[in-house]
Amino acid sequence: MNNYSSPVLPPATIGIIGGGQLGQMMALSAKAMGYKVGVLDPTDQAPAGQVADFQIVAAYDDLTALKRLAEKSDVLTYEFENVDQNALKQVENLTSIPQGIELLTITSHRLREKTFCRQHGLPVTPFASVQSMAGLETAIQKIGQPGLLKTVEGGYDGHGQFDINDQTDWNVIESEIDQTEWIYELKQNFVRELSVMVTRDGKDQVITFPVSENRHQHHILHTSIIPAQTTDAVKHKAQQIAINTAEALHLRGVLGIELFELPSGELMINELAPRPHNSGHYSIEACNISQFDAHIRSICGLAIPPIRQFEPAVMVNLLGDNLLAARADWPAHPEWHLHDYGKAEVRERRKMGHITVTGPSIEALLLSVSQFR
Ligand code: AMP
Repeated sequence: MNNYSSPVLPPATIGIIGGGQLGQMMALSAKAMGYKVGVLDPTDQAPAGQVADFQIVAAYDDLTALKRLAEKSDVLTYEFENVDQNALKQVENLTSIPQGIELLTITSHRLREKTFCRQHGLPVTPFASVQSMAGLETAIQKIGQPGLLKTVEGGYDGHGQFDINDQTDWNVIESEIDQTEWIYELKQNFVRELSVMVTRDGKDQVITFPVSENRHQHHILHTSIIPAQTTDAVKHKAQQIAINTAEALHLRGVLGIELFELPSGELMINELAPRPHNSGHYSIEACNISQFDAHIRSICGLAIPPIRQFEPAVMVNLLGDNLLAARADWPAHPEWHLHDYGKAEVRERRKMGHITVTGPSIEALLLSVSQFR
């Protein structure tokens, strides 16, 4: 993994692989600090491309395009985990990739990710590798039911997942199981879903953000409440897990850690995201340093101060048509920090924007955005 000591200072160029909203918010932070920003994305005028100095319009695995971005960039970063790792290896000698490629190798593959966690003493739900119906049967016998069968790669927001319980339609699973590699996990009866953003600065100091409480609809993050409405002991434990994870990974950049809080107060890691995370967007308005500022500072080897949250915050995602409703209603809600990602096409359940509200009362914040909940 790539650690370095001399910071990359503005007006150096930061190249971002991926032009979605995370890339856009990274680019906005970087631009405010005086960096130049280049983006690689197949969609012309992608959200990040709209705010960058230049966009290379090409597929993420287009080696010629990736080389062009790498040659023009002092630092290369990524905004999603399914970056072509072989392509990235081929540009490693052209630029600096502070997050490294190994972080992607681990986090883009659920089995490798959970195995990594287990090997480093980080808590995860019991799991097993599955490649056939017989393998699934063995896994269920060993781990128990109910469970979830997930593809090891490529799944997100609940895609590529099957519930395994008494009602499971085994024919559907049988017809799909040979097509790819799977992980079987015990389904946890959690009381809350939490997340923590974590990063390391240029001097290897680990910095954690406040703990978010996350509510999902249709497996997609819908609302985050910060600070999470749980005990201080649970929040402290979540941040300690984040610190241990960052150290085990020799982290650069921001990492999002999704956790389940069990009725006993025990925590389990569900997933690691090797980049800023949707549930950390609140930090733009509610903290002294946003997760995007922290990401840029970390990959450039700069210092990062301890994170302070000024006020409680609630964030709601604007999926599909909700963006249009938010635009129309914004004049009646001066308290909304409306983020419109500038995506050309509104699609059902597509993340089109988000709203953050901050203030002393979480009840009042939830009420302010209640039409989207
Ligand atoms: P994932 O795609 O793994 O992030 O899962 C999406 C959502 O499915 C999570 O946010 C949880 O709500 C739920 N989920 C995933 N894995 C488990 C599990 N082992 N036990 C209970 N719920 C889960």
